[in-house]
Amino acid sequence: MVWSKTSRHARGYGAEWDRLRLQILERDGHLCQCPDCRRAGGQPLPAHEVDHIKPKAWFKSGKAQGNPDDPSNLRSVNRDCHKKLTTLQKGYRPAVRVGVDGYPIEE
Ligand SMILES: [Zn+2]
Repeated sequence: MVWSKTSRHARGYGAEWDRLRLQILERDGHLCQCPDCRRAGGQPLPAHEVDHIKPKAWFKSGKAQGNPDDPSNLRSVNRDCHKKLTTLQKGYRPAVRVGVDGYPIEE
């Protein structure tokens, strides 16, 4: 992986985000808050990442209003769940097992 000097900062992630991230993880008890993990009967996976419930892009495009980094728009997620959520947000359909590019999609 190639690290860009500016990308992390340009995307709005810095010391402030690191602090916010820890705050959200504490709030959620370091447990994944994704729909799958929150489903009744399931044991939530440990969370190490923080996800925007409404993607930041929505705020830029005007689809969502307010501050994307407000704690009400943030939730703790497990790394694998985060990947799954991001995939869904990009418009892949969960009912499809394998995408057109051959990438497997978990149900
Ligand atoms: Zn989860």
